[in-house]
Amino acid sequence: MTQILRTPRILIVGGGPVGLAAALELARFGVASVVLERRAATSWHPKTRNLNTRTMEIARGWGHAVYQRLRGIDTPDGWKSPIRFLDTLTGTEFGQIEARGFLGPGPQVSPALPIMSSQDLVERILWDAAIATGLVELRFGHEVTAVLAGWRPEDTEASLEVRAPSGAGYTISGSALIAADGVDSLVRAQLGIALEGAQAVRHFVNCYFRADLESHLGDRRGVLLYVAGQRAAGIFQPLDARGRWLCQIPVSAEEWEAGAYSPEACVDWIRAGAGVPDLEVEVRHVGRWRMNAAIADRLVAGRVVLCGDAAHQLPPTGGLGVNTGLQGMHNVAWKLALCVRGIADWSLLHTYDEERRRPSQEIITQSLANFANVTQVAAAFYGHTPQLTTEEAIRATHRYGNHLGVELGTVYSSAAVIPDGTVPPAVDDPYADYQPSATPGCRAPHLWLGRGDGRLSTLDLFGPRFTVLTTGEDHPWDRAAARVADRYGVPVAAVTVGAPGIEDDEGVFLTQYGIKPGGAVLVRPDGHVAWRCAVAPEDADGVLDRALAQVLGRPVPGQPGPEGGD
Ligand SMILES: Cc1cc2nc3c(=O)[nH]c(=O)nc-3n(C[C@H](O)[C@H](O)[C@H](O)COP(=O)(O)OP(=O)(O)OC[C@H]3O[C@@H](n4cnc5c(N)ncnc54)[C@H](O)[C@@H]3O)c2cc1C
Repeated sequence: MTQILRTPRILIVGGGPVGLAAALELARFGVASVVLERRAATSWHPKTRNLNTRTMEIARGWGHAVYQRLRGIDTPDGWKSPIRFLDTLTGTEFGQIEARGFLGPGPQVSPALPIMSSQDLVERILWDAAIATGLVELRFGHEVTAVLAGWRPEDTEASLEVRAPSGAGYTISGSALIAADGVDSLVRAQLGIALEGAQAVRHFVNCYFRADLESHLGDRRGVLLYVAGQRAAGIFQPLDARGRWLCQIPVSAEEWEAGAYSPEACVDWIRAGAGVPDLEVEVRHVGRWRMNAAIADRLVAGRVVLCGDAAHQLPPTGGLGVNTGLQGMHNVAWKLALCVRGIADWSLLHTYDEERRRPSQEIITQSLANFANVTQVAAAFYGHTPQLTTEEAIRATHRYGNHLGVELGTVYSSAAVIPDGTVPPAVDDPYADYQPSATPGCRAPHLWLGRGDGRLSTLDLFGPRFTVLTTGEDHPWDRAAARVADRYGVPVAAVTVGAPGIEDDEGVFLTQYGIKPGGAVLVRPDGHVAWRCAVAPEDADGVLDRALAQVLGRPVPGQPGPEGGD
């Protein structure tokens, strides 16, 4: 039976963390979505563990309950550092490296705290939250079998062929399509989009199990416990410090293809790696995955966008895989929402590729380097290599888990950002170090405003709308914001820092945001600065109008030529 279903909603292929989060993000903008996922339920393999500070800032936008539930599944702090190198968990320790970045930068830099948990729990929370929006239809058990429309410039909708759980086929259409269908993305393949970079660099068996390893470890806590015994070499990862564990067993490509490691073989490996021959082990799931370091050569085709692992795949060393996926999704969701509602020109979508390709590529390259470096560290500790001293090897890993520069310091450059001739402050290591800046393109800096229990972050002021941050009592920005909101049909709110409830008692806002009294900063819905007007302008209506028009890809008033308006 072929059934034609037409909806004004956005289609999302893939109900992993990125697909579910995309649905949540779209719902913030009042845009409905249908998530098509071939699995019958959310994943129950733990897979990746870390949601970093920037991701958790994004999660604050999904509501207090979602943020708090995610915080509630965090592993206790004592288990986030160091990385230890042992022969067996209970045997000799050869060395350790700090990974304090997993604890987050602290409340002066961000209002959010990262978590170290497991993907199965995260997906379940996102699933519940998606249902709670009332705008997301979750079709689990539905496999997308073909992309019928959406990628060609002339396509006015996206359309898919789907197989329902009953086996029946149907087609479904939407205004746009998010491909969050993972590493082997069918959408990417059908659109002929190639992956650039290294694939199948290493092969792993992941075994999710329960065992009371904590009582054997005592104070020997850590975020990653490498073992290199005769009978077991790999990594143990604590999931909750209460008996849930994951181990990562490196295997050859041939072993991987052959599906090496039955649950019984995993039990043997775990006992040997722990150094506890009679350890009680309950294997919950055995999964396989290949380590890639690759990015799609296009992230946008017509009204189709690739997100998450469909767009790029990262080595796990650094814990940035799912974070990079979620942060990319956050970059494009508001653009899609404004395009399908006819507020922005579809050209805005291409700024997703322009803005996210460079940071994604940097993270891929560094994650691969982390992998090589940590291999060197392990070799140095275990005495296998004369190339590096232990100190040199440890220095080489300083970016492992310390990536605040790419997490909070990414500066976007595209038509959706209007430069003002300034550059963000220089830092020693742009990958690891972060200096707050409100230069256009930067993540608008976090500052605490208000008093006592009512304190809130500047980041909390950025809802699913454009925000004009300013100061003072007698400024023209309220009127200008209302005027452009009306003109473009998009919410624009002027927020006066210093007003009751958002006092700036420390008097840091103007300096940190780089404006004088009467100036303003236009913040995009994703919390990045679009435009800055350092001093009070003569014509606030006009300058804000031109700035917003440019960001939305609409004709800019007063500009000559076919692109100009008015
Ligand atoms: C066993 C395993 C272990 C891993 N371990 C780690 C780790 O230790 N560290 C790390 O950093 N990363 C790890 N990863 C990778 C990490 O899980 C991914 O980076 C993350 O899941 C990406 O999220 P995503 O939503 O983009 O894709 P996914 O989580 O892969 O979600 C994609 C979803 O799309 C669905 N789908 C695919 N095709 C179709 C279709 N045609 N129709 C409908 N649905 C479809 C899939 O069923 C899947 O649920 C692991 C992955 C696996 C599989």
